[in-house]
Amino acid sequence: MVYKWIKKLQPVLFPSTCRLCRAAGLPGLELCPTCRAELPWIAHSCTRCAIPLPRDIGITICFNCINTQPSLDSCTALFEYRPPIDRWIQDVKFAQDLATAHLLGELLAGKTAVDSQERPAIVLPVPLHRKRLSERGYNQALEIARSLSEKGYQLDPTCCRRHKATSAQSDLPAGARKGNVRNAFSVSGPLQGRRVLLIDDVMTTGATLNELARTLKKAGAERVEARVIARTGHKKR
Ligand SMILES: [Zn+2]
Ligand SMILES: [Zn+2]
Repeated sequence: MVYKWIKKLQPVLFPSTCRLCRAAGLPGLELCPTCRAELPWIAHSCTRCAIPLPRDIGITICFNCINTQPSLDSCTALFEYRPPIDRWIQDVKFAQDLATAHLLGELLAGKTAVDSQERPAIVLPVPLHRKRLSERGYNQALEIARSLSEKGYQLDPTCCRRHKATSAQSDLPAGARKGNVRNAFSVSGPLQGRRVLLIDDVMTTGATLNELARTLKKAGAERVEARVIARTGHKKR
């Protein structure tokens, strides 16, 4: 009860300031309305893999997804991977900047449906292998997802684990990423007939999210969706 009151009074007692232009921020957000609107939001994208699509061609699924039938049922990315979003994601990942993780989580929560009918049963931040977790000290996907749990979503970071220590996907050419994460995850919680929402910071080819979705569906999950902060283009290196 007391915590709820403190939470309600916080924006009044400590009004936020925009981290980009120092103007007054929106309630509980370190951004002013103008800077928020000017972030590189993705307006129209493939519903299965979140790759940006030109708005005027009237398609909702890209040719790559029509041909490959990904395991993910749907995927949404908030932003293109460019300034200031790319820098913020790097800060969260490599500079222990948890304030920025909170900001990204708030932006994600602001764009995620609040309709209880639409809610997934489980929100699962993409797990890190324990070796990577001990090096970094935290899972950036979990830190971003915390804002969803404040909105009443059921966060369950323990129903699945990453048991294979894979190379960083960003170090590999596109063709090797699928093989790198094959059988990397195992499920440890009951998933029969459940809807799962995966959360991650950045998506490039989607190999990690699709392998996780494949594993969850094999364990009985009915539907697997994903929300990521940023989407890069397909890199053919
Ligand atoms: Zn601003
Ligand atoms: Zn697609």
